Amino acid sequence: MNAATQVAVASPPASLPQIKDFKRVVIKAGSSLLVDRGQSCVKRTWLESLAQDIADLHARGADVLVVSSGAIALGRTVLGLPERDLKLEDSQAAAAIGQIALARIWAEVLADRKLTAGQILVTLGDTEERQRYLNARATIGRLLDLRAVPVINENDTVATHEIRYGDNDRLAARVATMASADLLILLSDVQGLYTAPPSENPAAELIPVVARVDASIEAMAGGAASRLSRGGMRTKIEAAKIATAGGTHMIITDGRVEHPVSRLEDGAPCTWFLTGSNPMTARKKWIAGALEPRGVLHVDAGAARAIASGKSLLPAGVTRVDGSFTSGDCVLIRDSRAVEIGRGLVAYDASDAVLIAGRNSQDIATVLGSPGRAVIIHRDDMALAHDKIAIWEPDTNGTS
Ligand code: GLU
Repeated sequence: MNAATQVAVASPPASLPQIKDFKRVVIKAGSSLLVDRGQSCVKRTWLESLAQDIADLHARGADVLVVSSGAIALGRTVLGLPERDLKLEDSQAAAAIGQIALARIWAEVLADRKLTAGQILVTLGDTEERQRYLNARATIGRLLDLRAVPVINENDTVATHEIRYGDNDRLAARVATMASADLLILLSDVQGLYTAPPSENPAAELIPVVARVDASIEAMAGGAASRLSRGGMRTKIEAAKIATAGGTHMIITDGRVEHPVSRLEDGAPCTWFLTGSNPMTARKKWIAGALEPRGVLHVDAGAARAIASGKSLLPAGVTRVDGSFTSGDCVLIRDSRAVEIGRGLVAYDASDAVLIAGRNSQDIATVLGSPGRAVIIHRDDMALAHDKIAIWEPDTNGTS
């Protein structure tokens, strides 16, 4: 064992979080777990066991999202295409065939447990471009409000090499931060992160806890992927970086057993990647510090009080709109004395914001000619000065 390894394995925290305490959990299932290559079908018994774990989490009040791989692997076996080096159009065709079967089976196994599945297929742009990201986030949020289980995959039928994730590990991490999930579980064909590839080094040890993903951890990741799935340990470490930066804890565990999540609760081996943050704080920091404000919404005293008490900003409370921005941009919120009281991601373009400012939300459809969102900045898309986010110096002189 080298020195870097010893640092990583040393001193796990006295107590780890309990799965039962998480409120919103993303579970990613890899292709090799889901697809029976010999039979060209989904491993139904295993999937039933995972669906039961999902139902148990859900029944305890947690929101559960699934990131399911397997579309290309399933379609490929149905079409009799080779396992490696598929041409782009072949993998797109395979995904089209596999995804429809995958979605049906997920809907069935969840419905058998009185859960409603909702399919979401995302592209890289949906998670990286702010306006589309906010749209996808809003849809996921609504599905969860409705207590549905989103079943998510990359839209592999339209994704091309340049504009795709290609692996569902990183996609799952982006989905987890987008959905403000507090836990991401990667079900894999390994028990977790080892100090060295266990197949090559019998002395390799499982690392139970990673407090921070640093260079020594990245060095352990290697590059290998299994034959059916695209992600190796490298993409899992990338996923851990995305998740933990977004305030989401992450677990890698062996999914090749039935009931992989309830086994985790019973102490099955795994690697935890811990975050010192939480999704809401991480999001507020991002809004407060990482985005260049593009405009200003001036608000009346009633609206200022409402947002200070945790409410969303409604168009009715906006007295003036400055700047040229598009929906999803960051804007400042100023009170009647022009003091910045917060900033947030605005749900409307500046031209529409001007039209709906001061109007009741139920008038939006009449004013704009089509129904829009009832709020102009949702409370989850807002960072307030009184949140006291350290990296943010609110502008108090009314100049920007
Ligand atoms: N999105 C791919 C599929 O459903 C899976 C990518 C991966 O294996 O990580 O086939």
